[in-house]
Amino acid sequence: MNIEAIRADFPMLAKGNAPIYFDNACTSLKPINVIDAINSYYYTYSGCSGRSMHHIAKKTEERFELARGNIANFVNARQEEVIFTKNTTEAINLVANSIVFQADKKNIVTTIMEHHSAYLPFYELCKRRRIELDTVHDINSLKEWSQKITKETALVVTHAINNTLGTGPDLKEITNLAHQNNALILVDGAQSVPHALTNFKRNDIDFLAFSGHKMLGPTGIGCLVSKTGLMEDLNPFIVGGGTIEEAKSDKVKYLNAPHKFEGGIQNYAGAIGLSAAVDYLKKIGMGYIEAYEKRLIAETEKRASEIDNLIIYGNFEDKKSAIFTFNIKDVEPHQVTIMLDKMKKICTRSGVFCAQPAMEFLGAPNGAVRASLYFYNTFEELDIFFNCLETVAKTLRG
Ligand code: PLP
Repeated sequence: MNIEAIRADFPMLAKGNAPIYFDNACTSLKPINVIDAINSYYYTYSGCSGRSMHHIAKKTEERFELARGNIANFVNARQEEVIFTKNTTEAINLVANSIVFQADKKNIVTTIMEHHSAYLPFYELCKRRRIELDTVHDINSLKEWSQKITKETALVVTHAINNTLGTGPDLKEITNLAHQNNALILVDGAQSVPHALTNFKRNDIDFLAFSGHKMLGPTGIGCLVSKTGLMEDLNPFIVGGGTIEEAKSDKVKYLNAPHKFEGGIQNYAGAIGLSAAVDYLKKIGMGYIEAYEKRLIAETEKRASEIDNLIIYGNFEDKKSAIFTFNIKDVEPHQVTIMLDKMKKICTRSGVFCAQPAMEFLGAPNGAVRASLYFYNTFEELDIFFNCLETVAKTLRG
């Protein structure tokens, strides 16, 4: 694959003024076909779907539903299994607020490595209801998973790839454990869907949440993918226009899913933009992206070992995406990111990455620095990053 041709598709990477963008776990850059798809909605058919009968509305509806089908196909789900949400956070909140628990179910199992967006909705749910929240600490220990997931477990909530280290548990085994115990499983795919091939059907997971903006799409659009049968069991979440078949003053009948969950005018441009992002990812190939990121992370491991006074979090061999998290001994992480930005416009992230329990568990309660790479990053950029990091380490440690 020609990296220069790929980079030419991203206006933010235009030659002459390009940053070294290593903050992809936060949000990705957008290729021109995504920007064009969004513009084309606003320029040429900016109606609303599922309501009006005129030709503009019909075109919006057609494009919106085509987008749903294309995105569903990308994760190997059925079109009607995809609910559009604002982002991963809203998708997970939808499950937390809509799920109905059987009387014999007493706990939810999650992990210490979750993003706040996966952890807090269930923390709040458990506070409100008489349900325990059990936390797995060693995500690679099937022993710990099997001790925590029992016949009393209603739901397992786990990331596929976490945003602090780029690692993740064995989803197949955990899904089996959940189903053997008659529990459901919700997978936070915010960091996995953009970086690895996702197969909702084959993996037999019950709910999958992800965001458009981390996978080349626009902000403000995400998805909850849910097995068809389960969707009908969920209570409505955000109700209003577009969600009902009939609303009388004393009786309401909701539409079938996914429309039952899509209250109000939707982010059509967002869904259409995300569909264009999926087209772009398919053109590049998820297999290529995974393999390329493996090469980037192997080079990262080699270069990181040459720098003194680095504290590196996580094992390189466990990584499923190109996320490198570190501290310089005795140096405040924000100082490092600011200096990298000033030196060569290198964009990294510092702090606890919206995963404070995870960072405390990893021994970095005051945060760390995260460089997260994607398929448009280059080995030359890595070289500049490590050269600067060496200077930063020497300068800030005196
Ligand atoms: N889950 C993980 C693993 C994430 O990395 C993120 C964002 O960084 C989220 C959930 C939340 O995503 P969003 O802010 O798009 O809802």
